[in-house]
Amino acid sequence: MSCIIKKNILSEGKTKRIYTTQNPLEVLIHYKDNITALDGLKKNFLQDKGVLNNEITTLIFKFINSCGIKTHFIRKKNNREQLCHKVDMIPLEFVVRNIVAGSMSKRLGVKEGIHLSNPIFEIFYKNDKLKDPLINDHHAVFLEIISYEELNRIYSIASEINHIIKKYFLDKNIILVDFKIEFGKNHKNEILLSDEISPDTCRFWDKKTMKKLDKDLFRMGLKEKEEVFDIYMEILKRLNVS
Ligand code: UDP
Repeated sequence: MSCIIKKNILSEGKTKRIYTTQNPLEVLIHYKDNITALDGLKKNFLQDKGVLNNEITTLIFKFINSCGIKTHFIRKKNNREQLCHKVDMIPLEFVVRNIVAGSMSKRLGVKEGIHLSNPIFEIFYKNDKLKDPLINDHHAVFLEIISYEELNRIYSIASEINHIIKKYFLDKNIILVDFKIEFGKNHKNEILLSDEISPDTCRFWDKKTMKKLDKDLFRMGLKEKEEVFDIYMEILKRLNVS
């Protein structure tokens, strides 16, 4: 395996830093220890959270790759870094919902916990100034972010991802309530699942107790930081049990 040379910072977000490498088609993604919620309004530092999310995302992306769905993930490099295909990120967050919770529950005035017979897809425009508003397909096409064909392709990939990871988590006694995913395009213009899938980007409930096992505990101030770390650790432990 050839050695990877970390070059310049390509971009930096709230929880990750992206570096160029000697290969123009590959980047190194570094997971930081920041934990944020409510569009960055609530920020904190959680020692080694980056290590856990790097490992959790690695396990989930390896599983998704093994199911034949194309992702940016190549391999984990070390505790905090993974080597990925370089993509141009599409500035949309795709949320897939299996059970009503969070912003959908508030926006529509419906109770958290209602099971949806068909998953609901939502798109949010990634724009800090506008605070990532919920938009629809026509807005996204009007803004020239994406075409209708690409949106349909992504909905189909997102649906497949939901189908396989819902079962993957359930086998580990975790209910996948909802999650957010992002996509990018590689140099061949192929759409790849990118970014991360972790307790930062998913709502997980324990199958037996229905207790929350994700960032909601931080968002809602229900737990101290240290306890939130233990919950992320618990998710990792369950994913490691085959
Ligand atoms: N989510 C995320 N990043 C965001 C907003 C939401 O990863 O910036 C995830 C969140 O963890 C949840 C799903 O997307 O699993 C749906 O979130 P929701 O729209 O309910 O908003 P929230 O309650 O996070 O404000």
